[in-house]
Amino acid sequence: MSALDVGWATAEAWRSDAHRVLADDRLPPVGAPLAGICDACGRADGFHPVQHAADTREGLHCRACGCMARQRAVARVLTECLDGASSRCVYLTEQASPLYIALRRRFPATIGSEYVSRRWRRLRLMLWLWRHGVLQRIRHGDVTRLRDADASLDAVASLDVLEHVPDATAAFRELARVLRPGGWLVATVPFYQDAAVSARIASLDPRGDIVFHAPPEYHGDPLGGGVVCFHHFGWDLPALLTGAGFSSAHLRYVRDPARGLPHGIWVLVARR
Ligand SMILES: [Zn+2]
Repeated sequence: MSALDVGWATAEAWRSDAHRVLADDRLPPVGAPLAGICDACGRADGFHPVQHAADTREGLHCRACGCMARQRAVARVLTECLDGASSRCVYLTEQASPLYIALRRRFPATIGSEYVSRRWRRLRLMLWLWRHGVLQRIRHGDVTRLRDADASLDAVASLDVLEHVPDATAAFRELARVLRPGGWLVATVPFYQDAAVSARIASLDPRGDIVFHAPPEYHGDPLGGGVVCFHHFGWDLPALLTGAGFSSAHLRYVRDPARGLPHGIWVLVARR
């Protein structure tokens, strides 16, 4: 069975499998390196040890390319969605990142961006990218207002971005607009597997000020500082995507100990 066949579009479908699926999760050993092949770069150099066993999502960086577990899980699903065809045009909502560098090797037409409007910050990121051998400018990208033409992309990959967009539905519609029919959205968000519906924990008032509806939550930004989280996504997420122009959507629980993924990672997969 293709791994694409494994996934759940509703809370009911997930609940009937949850016990069996979660029973196979393993926490990585603390302080000990993990062997395996990286789905982002293809190398078999193994993975850096975690400092906390629960660090199954943001840790286990590949020793060769530096991609963390959730980046490798997205690379795996994306490659499978695109049948590994190197001519495909992928848009990644990050650019100064090891995943962007790894994806460009696999899909040379890959484009990226960062949500950074300040020029000096883009310059700093550009220097990072140059040091890693990619001589490009950093593109500023807002997932609710992309510069890409309609139906121009084969896939969009977005990692832990959508929960920071106040109007997530506007972002879903925009991502559907730029994808060609049959194109793929592969994304990670902090996903609440026990929640039937998503919760809006913050919003913007008419003046653009943030209003919190729950204890404020700030996520670490690799560019520095904390970013407000607006949404806790639950099992209505696939329906939110189909309501925004996608033809189908589901969530996959990506796990493969031989690939440095001993504990499942939720990956959203939606087809235009
Ligand atoms: Zn790697």
